[in-house]
Amino acid sequence: ANRRATGLIPGDGIGREVIPAGRRILEALPSSLGLKFEFTDLDAGFETFQKTGAALPERTVDVLKNECDGALFGAVSSPTKAVKGYSSPIVALRKKLDLYANVRPVKTVASAANPIDMVIVRENTEDLYVKEERTLEDPARGGVYAEAIKRISARASLRIATIAGEIALRRQKLREAGAASIHTSPLVTITHKSNVLSQTDGLFRTCAKEALAAPRFAGVAVEEQIVDSMVYKLFRQPGSYDVIVAPNLYGDILSDGAAALVGSLGLVPSANVGEGFAIGEPCHGSAPDIEGKGIANPIATLRSTALMLEFLGEEKAAAKIYAAVDANLEEAKLLSPDLGGKATTEEVVSDILKKL
Ligand code: NAD
Ligand code: MN
Repeated sequence: ANRRATGLIPGDGIGREVIPAGRRILEALPSSLGLKFEFTDLDAGFETFQKTGAALPERTVDVLKNECDGALFGAVSSPTKAVKGYSSPIVALRKKLDLYANVRPVKTVASAANPIDMVIVRENTEDLYVKEERTLEDPARGGVYAEAIKRISARASLRIATIAGEIALRRQKLREAGAASIHTSPLVTITHKSNVLSQTDGLFRTCAKEALAAPRFAGVAVEEQIVDSMVYKLFRQPGSYDVIVAPNLYGDILSDGAAALVGSLGLVPSANVGEGFAIGEPCHGSAPDIEGKGIANPIATLRSTALMLEFLGEEKAAAKIYAAVDANLEEAKLLSPDLGGKATTEEVVSDILKKL
């Protein structure tokens, strides 16, 4: 069997209630797929910080780096007021493992009134998020002012557009293999604001176009759109997007906005992807308001698990999980409270396992 070592990082709050669902669905995959998973439980998060003084223990990073093919990350709580020594472990993990792409599929069921099926591919290492800010004072500027570096590199822009092209091709292959979709051919939309930021976003635009002009992407249509007009179109005609590629900040904003189009955060998955490594991560946080009640929606995690499998090259296994989740949503009999139902996490998971 093809052995896959998977790290499990539940984190805080409902992260601990949904990550077990990811493990269970991996264990329930049909043996005909020839996959065998080995799981390692790993710590991270605010509670880990309070216990040990480190939000991301060395062991977690070492095991992920040296022993794992992929991982599932639940959610972590961040204190509302800055706590000395604490910083987000997922942000640190993205850096330490060079997970340069944040991939967020946003999809409704096929029978929805306005079906959506898009993936936002966000550059995850640079742009304004290099956090090189400073506060200065100058009477000529009226006193105190602050500024920040927006850094865009050719290397990061080329590789993020390349992975967007690869995702568009893979989605087309999945469609050809029978996956239900509203799209019939692959399309990548490059997002930027190069009309104003001609050097930074201008470089992103040029590099993205160059990467997507490679012969292997000949079958992928490429268009570009200025980010503000994109927001308008995203809200009016979300069904017209297939794959969107964006620099870090626009990608962050677009992906949260797009998530709002499908009704609940409990449905939206993501993956942090690097060379040969992927961490599946539901988009939601630790949800302290429903923690411990056993009613968290596990679907974002199950879809994140499938997404991790896609990036490990296990598309067939991923397709099975997506189909089982869709069957649960289409039937709409066992839904969690965030979707207007009464089912517990356990009831939703067992229904999806049954459909698998
Ligand atoms: P949140 O995503 O935790 O919750 C927002 C709302 O959505 C809440 O009402 C919650 O009950 C609901 N919700 C979220 N996931 C759900 C699910 N699976 N099923 C049903 N309902 C769900 O965001 P928040 O309340 O702004 O933040 C709570 C904590 O999580 C904070 O400490 C924040 O810093 C952290 N957070 C972490 C991440 C992450 O780990 N990636 C992301 C966002 C927020
Ligand atoms: Mn965000």
